[in-house]
Amino acid sequence: MREDYGNPSSIHGKGVAAFHALSEARASLARLLHVAADELYFTSCGTESNNIVLHGAARLAGKQGKILISAVEHPSVHETAKRLAGLGYQLELIPVSAEGVFDPDALEPLLDEQTILVSIMHVNNETGAIQPLRQAGQLIRRLSPRALFHVDAVQSFGRLPLPLADWQADAVTMSGHKIHAPKGIGLLWLRAGVNLPSLMQGGGQERGLRSGTENMSGIMAFVAAAEECYSRMELHGEAIAQVRDVFLSELRRGLPQLLLNGPADEHAVSHILNISLPGVRSEVLLHSLEMKGLYVSAGSACTSRSTRGSRILQAMGLPKERVDAAIRCSFSRYNTPEEAVQAAGLIVETVNELSGLINLGKRKGRK
Ligand code: PLP
Repeated sequence: MREDYGNPSSIHGKGVAAFHALSEARASLARLLHVAADELYFTSCGTESNNIVLHGAARLAGKQGKILISAVEHPSVHETAKRLAGLGYQLELIPVSAEGVFDPDALEPLLDEQTILVSIMHVNNETGAIQPLRQAGQLIRRLSPRALFHVDAVQSFGRLPLPLADWQADAVTMSGHKIHAPKGIGLLWLRAGVNLPSLMQGGGQERGLRSGTENMSGIMAFVAAAEECYSRMELHGEAIAQVRDVFLSELRRGLPQLLLNGPADEHAVSHILNISLPGVRSEVLLHSLEMKGLYVSAGSACTSRSTRGSRILQAMGLPKERVDAAIRCSFSRYNTPEEAVQAAGLIVETVNELSGLINLGKRKGRK
């Protein structure tokens, strides 16, 4: 930022140097993803990438058509799809199982010639559930040849391999801040030949798809973070799984009433864990833990300020008491098993304190 502060759109020397750095950054990401560099577009975040794809696919298709999204998409897909439904597109949600995984058999009857877009996330941000995208891709190609297949891979980029060709995807969304890059940098992959109309008009950056001066420091940090993730993906995954396993077994030992929301086996990533502790409301637990220096969330960070229970857990058909008592814990490669023991201990202690208070309140209420 001190030396290479040029604007990549400027044609003087400083600008040209920045342009080269930008091209190199794009090429590095393309190598990691095994795609062509000119299939990658820098955006400001995952939300923007998702909006570009959904609005773009709708505009490309004309004024009508069917849009399918899974019932557990992030709000940046869910709300955008609802907006499109308000404009006249037909929107249908692909149902998920009680573990939050969609069943390809449930997708099949929804696909038809009128389908213009199918958007399914790779990994769910609240439960960690991994979706069977390969089967989805096969069905979409066979039954809805017109449809654009979009994958929101914000939670899996840098943590799991993204087999884009295997999925037969047309568009994939990624974001920097999930892999330790700064907030405010996103990425979009569009398969060669997919030409979406731009949402913003301006200087024509990012080959006209996303006008606006590029976030150069964010892009450089994003590449550094992605390279670090890709070079040690398996190692990081194993270390995080160990932290998660220690955390979960300590919690289960102290709180046998614990319920796991989402898949427990190979259908889930290791960095997200969603649990319910029946009888203790998630906001109460969240704030009590925060006072002890432990930060968990109730639903996704972007929606957790709303007072409604998690839309995702509701889509999984979980009962209200379980949804109201759900917290989402996440782990990074910087966490240690010792921290996992400590964190689990704090949760056990806090749940016992809160349950004691709740029972006392109930007894007083009865008197
Ligand atoms: N999609 C998923 C699955 C996410 O988890 C998030 C963020 O939490 C987003 C999209 C939005 O990404 P961003 O915060 O970069 O806008």
